Amino acid sequence: MNMLIDSHCHLQFPQFQDDRVQVLERAWQAGLSAIVLVGTDADCSQRALALAESHPNLFATVGWHPHQAAQFDDQGRLALRRLAESPKAVAVGEIGLDFYRNLSPPETQRAVFQQMLDTAGELRLPVVIHSRAAEEDTFAILSAWAAQVRAQWPQERPLGVVHCFSGDLALALRYIQLGFLISIAGSVTYPNTDRLASVVAGLPLERLLVETDAPYLTPQSRRPQRNEPPFLIETVGRIAEIRAQTVREVAGQTSANAAALYGIQASGSGPAEKKEAL
Ligand SMILES: [Zn+2]
Repeated sequence: MNMLIDSHCHLQFPQFQDDRVQVLERAWQAGLSAIVLVGTDADCSQRALALAESHPNLFATVGWHPHQAAQFDDQGRLALRRLAESPKAVAVGEIGLDFYRNLSPPETQRAVFQQMLDTAGELRLPVVIHSRAAEEDTFAILSAWAAQVRAQWPQERPLGVVHCFSGDLALALRYIQLGFLISIAGSVTYPNTDRLASVVAGLPLERLLVETDAPYLTPQSRRPQRNEPPFLIETVGRIAEIRAQTVREVAGQTSANAAALYGIQASGSGPAEKKEAL
């Protein structure tokens, strides 16, 4: 396999505190060419960036998850703004709406989401979107944001990615129309996932990303273990099977998509790099 990018994972989380070095070693051994560490609040984003700085093929995103929206304040906003300017910060996220667990009031979630989108627009960074039980609300907010930023956006560069996509094919196609990519997680390997399979089969491969979302969403054959980057291969295998393509094609194209989205250069042959000016 030439290229395999885990476009979304959380190796900075405490679940990896005892064996992070070994987990990373296994990831490079398994052929991962880059890993994107996704932040969920200021401290977590700071940890993601610090870890990303330790290896050329690690990158970070900085964001504030809707679960923690109620804890968002000026200090958090300023800290994230500063972190987002770091050379290893490749996107703003994860941000969005979660009306399934509703750990923060919906209005607060909306306000934080909007502020984070404004930061991304200002810095011209793509966004990593978390949306659960909030399909139409999230889409409406992103449509408005897309209309606002598109004129200044580098041509051909996607605006962002909807992570761990769980909607239907019609919604996925609307997101693609808007300039977003769709990311598929280990849940595609679970039984009874016809709806997700039809999303995977129905989209152009050029618009798909793959992710572990580790430590969560462990692919079927490894459950109930903690998820980690090498297990991404099972997800890629399932996508290849659904699409009747080879594992190599799926790994190569989704990784090229991730590299283009995040502005990183990654190939199996050497360390990844963040591209200078996009
Ligand atoms: Zn995540």
